[in-house]
Amino acid sequence: VVSIFWFRRDLRLEDNIGLMHALRTRENVLPLFIFDPEVFQRDENNGNVQVGFVYDTILGIKEKLETIGSGLHVAVGKPLDVFKSLMDSYHIFSVYANREYEPYTLQRDDEVDAFLANQGVEFHTYKDQVLFEQNEIVKDNGEPYTVFTAYKQRFLRKLNQSMVVPAPISKYAHNFFRTTPLPVPSLEIMGYSRVEVPVPPRKLPAELLKSYEADRDFPARNGTSHLGVHLRFGTVSIRKVTALAMQHSETFLNELIWRNFYSVILWFFPQVVHTSFKPAFDEIVWENSKEDFKAWCEGRTGYPLVDAGMRELNATGYMHNRVRMVTASFLCKHLLIDWRWGEAYFARKLLDYDLASNNGGWQWAAGSGNDAAPYFRVFNPELQAKKFDPNGEYIAKWVPEYGTISYPKPIIVHAEARKRALARYAEAVKAK
Ligand code: FAD
Repeated sequence: VVSIFWFRRDLRLEDNIGLMHALRTRENVLPLFIFDPEVFQRDENNGNVQVGFVYDTILGIKEKLETIGSGLHVAVGKPLDVFKSLMDSYHIFSVYANREYEPYTLQRDDEVDAFLANQGVEFHTYKDQVLFEQNEIVKDNGEPYTVFTAYKQRFLRKLNQSMVVPAPISKYAHNFFRTTPLPVPSLEIMGYSRVEVPVPPRKLPAELLKSYEADRDFPARNGTSHLGVHLRFGTVSIRKVTALAMQHSETFLNELIWRNFYSVILWFFPQVVHTSFKPAFDEIVWENSKEDFKAWCEGRTGYPLVDAGMRELNATGYMHNRVRMVTASFLCKHLLIDWRWGEAYFARKLLDYDLASNNGGWQWAAGSGNDAAPYFRVFNPELQAKKFDPNGEYIAKWVPEYGTISYPKPIIVHAEARKRALARYAEAVKAK
């Protein structure tokens, strides 16, 4: 008889709430990971930028578990099918996991829960990847906050040290299931090809936090944590990172609250995956020029900050936050291309891709989101470059030909693009 701990976006053996509960209350806890094609979608070459990172992380966890005489069961496929076949191999007593909040993962867990219940198997889930779930921070009348500042104030009032204490695991490690090493399929056998991108280190130095506020907006300074992918897959614990932020940087804490906020927005308003949070913005008549979109994707717009950002993304799977805002705004407003095209492109390319934050970021830039930048605020990409890359170092790194004749002319004149965007947006807002 075993109990399963199902790893999802909590890929660590320390400070893991669901895993702690499993080990504390059950014997023979067998850890499981499933490569779910719905979560790890394949591009036309079977590539997925995140899958290699996850695979390596999983192997690391497996190795650690094997050193203590346990193992990790790795499967590929639809989780419901995986559980059905696991029932044939093991007598499963209960299943433990940490909760997820995206529309697909909620539905998947409901299905798995119903199936397990039918088999007489308990499914226990816990809060782990956020500090506050949807029902924990709401207005007095129970409605969700849609304005960030108000949400944040309440969040800060509720946040306290006791919430960021790490969950102990090692003292219950004797309850891991004893097994000889279990086989693990290669990525290729699972049908994936690896997309090589650098993986940022899993650390958050106090020095970085101390200068975060001053440096975070300047892409040439390397002043941000690069922890996005680690927070996406739980290779660092949100409690650990929050504890450090509480100690050293209010500004950094603020960004972690944005992450939590967007996750909750997605829970309350799952329609944002496909539609604008503010319906009027679905009335916008987009230009949707395929040629312009291609130039944007490839970093050939003739606006050096935009091009630098896109080239950084294409080469590394990462883009600095300031530049994400500028490139996204440029696509929606200057080129009048539907934000969903840009969102899908980022989803394919970003190592730290996260549905809630990506959708939130795109709707913010398009002006269509909750608490978004007002639509008539159109970033001027040249001014942005002057302000945030004053010495042109970031641009020089990614667009070395800038200033020579081989650099393309701007695909659109800023002043005209701005006028066109304002008119088009105004029509949409008026129409509703
Ligand atoms: P740091 O500045 O070091 O921030 C620390 C952590 O706080 C981040 O790792 C992230 O988890 C969180 N965070 C910071 N800023 C935000 C924010 N604005 N919204 C939500 N969480 C935030 N973030 C993602 O994690 N995944 C995405 O797919 C994503 N897509 C984006 C798309 C657009 C158009 C925009 C404007 C922003 C997007 N962001 C996304 C938010 C933000 O740009 C990244 O989290 C950040 O740049 C990651 O780099 P970092 O880890 O060095 O950030």
